[in-house]
Amino acid sequence: MKRDTKIVIITLCRKTKKKFRLKFKYPKHSTVIYLLYFFYFKIEILLSKNILYNSAMEQNYISNDVFEQIKDFKHYYLNEEQKLLIDKLIPTEELKQRYKPYGLCKGCKQPNTSNSSYVWCQPCNSRRFQQNFKNWTSGNSDVDKLIQESQLNAKNRYEILEWIEYDRFEDIEYIAKGGFGKVYKAIWKDGYIKKWDYETNQWKIYEDIYEDTLFVVLKCLNNSKDITLEFLNEVNIAMIA
Ligand SMILES: [Zn+2]
Repeated sequence: MKRDTKIVIITLCRKTKKKFRLKFKYPKHSTVIYLLYFFYFKIEILLSKNILYNSAMEQNYISNDVFEQIKDFKHYYLNEEQKLLIDKLIPTEELKQRYKPYGLCKGCKQPNTSNSSYVWCQPCNSRRFQQNFKNWTSGNSDVDKLIQESQLNAKNRYEILEWIEYDRFEDIEYIAKGGFGKVYKAIWKDGYIKKWDYETNQWKIYEDIYEDTLFVVLKCLNNSKDITLEFLNEVNIAMIA
């Protein structure tokens, strides 16, 4: 077939009412184009009457009803009957792909976004972090922004940064001088966030089962009061990489 001419049919996109272009490359088949035009036209009418709109095909979340049916399944060990049910009841491929390895979030009743060591639900955890933004600040709005963005976007626990007040460290001990500044050893009185604990309704914090104390290395940057945006971008890139 020759690819010489293009005909553009313009119709309206049902949700945004933006112009929606469909390109057909073979103008010789004018009857087909004509039929297609009416086909799309007809779909629009159906949609506007809400006939297709509420169908299961359009739904991209797990309903309460489905959640109740599958909530007690062990997502990592489904029997044949349960596998069939999951395929039938979970509406989209993306949700199924998340359900199988990560299971369901007890908060929003949707599949978690990660299970690397600990389950993680990005929408739920991001909301929890956001509610706590008013309770801390580094004193530098660029640093605050970097930490906040990591907390809002993290799909697992490795992607979050936390702001830790200086008084949460003790026994700070000088070790050596590096190229960028001094290096210290210290005990971190708390520990990093692992996951949300639904029993206590707070973050579950890392605890070393072999040691009572959590030693960390602190790197004190020269002129850290003058942290630049370029430096923060590098931190951000290092985190994504
Ligand atoms: Zn959730």
